[in-house]
Amino acid sequence: MIAEVIIQSNVKNLNRAFDYQIPEEYEGKERELIGARVLVPFGRMKALEEGFVIGIKQSTEFKVKEIAKVQEKYLDESKIVLAEWMAKRYFCNVSDCLKLMLPPGTTAKVNTNRTKEKSIQFVSLKKDAEEIEWEIENGKLKSDKQIRALRFLMENEEALVADIEMFADASRAVVNTLCKNGYVEIEEKKVERDPFEGKEIVKTEKLPLTAQQQAAWSAISDSMDDMLFSEFLIFGVTGSGKTEIYLQLIEKALKEEKTSILLVPEISLTPQTVNRFIARFGKETIAVLHSKLSVGERYDQWHKIKEGKAKIIIGARSAIFAPVENLGIVIIDEEHDSSYKSEMAPRYDAKEIARYICKEANVPLVLGSATPDMETYYRAKKEEVMLLPLTKRANEAHLPEIEIIDLREELAKGNKSMLSTRLYEEIEKNLQEKKQTILYLNRRGFSTFVMCRNCGYTVKCKHCNINLTYHSNTNRLKCHYCGYEEKLVTECPECGSKQIRYFGTGTQKLEYEIKQLFPSAKTIRMDIDTVSKKNSHEQILTKFKNENIDILIGTQMVVKGHDFPNVTLVGVIAADGSLNMDDFRANEKTFQILTQVAGRAGRGKDRGRVIIQTYNPDNFSIECAKEQNYELFYETEIGLRKQLKYPPFCDIILIGFSSENAEEVAEVAEKIHAYLKNRVLKENIGIILYKALPSPIDRIKNKYRYRILIKCKFSEDIIGLVNDTMEQYYALKKKNTRITIDVNPTNMMTL
Ligand code: ADP
Ligand code: ZN
Ligand code: ZN
Repeated sequence: MIAEVIIQSNVKNLNRAFDYQIPEEYEGKERELIGARVLVPFGRMKALEEGFVIGIKQSTEFKVKEIAKVQEKYLDESKIVLAEWMAKRYFCNVSDCLKLMLPPGTTAKVNTNRTKEKSIQFVSLKKDAEEIEWEIENGKLKSDKQIRALRFLMENEEALVADIEMFADASRAVVNTLCKNGYVEIEEKKVERDPFEGKEIVKTEKLPLTAQQQAAWSAISDSMDDMLFSEFLIFGVTGSGKTEIYLQLIEKALKEEKTSILLVPEISLTPQTVNRFIARFGKETIAVLHSKLSVGERYDQWHKIKEGKAKIIIGARSAIFAPVENLGIVIIDEEHDSSYKSEMAPRYDAKEIARYICKEANVPLVLGSATPDMETYYRAKKEEVMLLPLTKRANEAHLPEIEIIDLREELAKGNKSMLSTRLYEEIEKNLQEKKQTILYLNRRGFSTFVMCRNCGYTVKCKHCNINLTYHSNTNRLKCHYCGYEEKLVTECPECGSKQIRYFGTGTQKLEYEIKQLFPSAKTIRMDIDTVSKKNSHEQILTKFKNENIDILIGTQMVVKGHDFPNVTLVGVIAADGSLNMDDFRANEKTFQILTQVAGRAGRGKDRGRVIIQTYNPDNFSIECAKEQNYELFYETEIGLRKQLKYPPFCDIILIGFSSENAEEVAEVAEKIHAYLKNRVLKENIGIILYKALPSPIDRIKNKYRYRILIKCKFSEDIIGLVNDTMEQYYALKKKNTRITIDVNPTNMMTL
């Protein structure tokens, strides 16, 4: 018999299976091999290559070699089928999809039998990070790859070689050189760490459900009993008790010895969230999967699931691929969150994967949100998803009062500060009453652009078409796309004028201004710049909660899911940022973020106040957020989407091209467009095809970018068309231009 093997090779474009003879000892039990990891001879390579058996067949027309070695079996047949489905849906490699389903670190080509002894090779820094930085700055280290690998280690403390290969794009050889030169060390380690270590958590009992909670719980519980797939949307304002329903559904699954998967957005995977589950069920049955865990920790969590010890899996989007047997339910909290869609290959949507898996397993899929995704709500209206509303806050807390401040009027009054008079007064009042305040501004750094007053020149990144942001703590200009930094500019490089001015405000400047205005207030700032080490996200939040800090200032990170009973005031410094995006979801994102951030106020017994500052007080997403009227927002927005033909009324496929060569990328994009246009006209294919245009950010990391946008209804025909287009691209043999395909991207700016 013949095995079809996907080669797990570094050589890209091996997106097909190769045939191999199955060794005699497997006669009669060939099917067991499906999903097994194997070593096979491949091409002219001396070393054996690693691969996965994805299918079995009687014979082959080729003369084939035999599988050299059969190793452990991590995947069952259903996972293989899923990977093949994903490859088709997202136009990516089967092997890239399989990687998501394997234990962390498996793709490393080191020590292949390490899994038995549970030890793994880890790379860690040997030299001081500061010393390394100094060497890099002073040109002592020149190799880009070495620098990338070192920077990756600085961020991650320790890592597997495979992780360095994947994330820092540096090979094993690079790591070896670094080791030889004394920068890093490689250690073989037993992996047995505990991400819950040292946590003392008081056990909680389940709460008697409110009538609305009970109705939602029963509907889902019935569907679990019926063992049929159905999809639910728990639509409840923040604090309406969604999590309590999740807890009690999971409890039911647990009683039936079934496993539950709970997905939460990466950013809200805080210990606070996880602790609520540990407090109810104890840590033994829980596994947590997210990117902030070290590879070793993830490896342990994966095996805890595989061995059936963990019955509750809490994780970010990739946790949907956890090796679960006997699935009982999948729950996706904050289902509107864009982090469920991957922006790296494979560019999958975890919600779609969840739907697929739940259908296979005949279990319910539960989505929860206070501001559902337009598409989800649209499907609920069409009764494809069962709507379960929670209209009241569970602990009787009131919804906050929301006030809109027109910043144009503030300017007219001569107020040039970042705070309107109203917001200033309210902060002062809160300080006097010893209540806490959260201020939200979605831009980090101090000034968001630097411009010459004389000639209008703005300082841009050397590698990207992006303005540099001024950071006051390091006194440098930074690119938020590629990390490039440079010294402050004092003289205009264009005209020599010294009239360099700093514009646009970020969180650093806001913090500075708050300290000037309220010198006695204790403040803390939370954005990517202050949250870098492993736990400091949690540390900041714990500090805010426990150490009498008056004002928390931050970006998006302050918006999600935290429960601070003493916060009674939330200020939105500028609601306009997300409105000005070149993205059909601009209104939706604005509405979501304003509603979410408003939900942080008044979670305790005191009523919360929210002040939203904006230059567009008449925009309907801001008005609807003020009224906390999702329904009205939905009706207005869905009308626009229908009129302009945007999702959910179509699917969007973005074909992106990038290259260091500006002419080549334009040429390739034009040719591919011409090909598509020709096919569409000739075959009368019902899609809307847009011209090839430079991407919204047309240069990132030295690569020029173009894209083609297609609106269509996803179907077998479209799959065929896109695959043919890929073939066309390969036939052009323009190796310096990369092609990327994104199906229904959640962020229209990045490709
Ligand atoms: P959500 O997940 O919708 O934000 P939570 O489940 O976190 O809401 O509930 C908000 C608050 O209300 C929590 O403090 C929770 O303990 C409390 N709560 C939830 N359900 C009930 C209930 N049935 N009875 C009393 N309090 C509840
Ligand atoms: Zn100038
Ligand atoms: Zn840059």
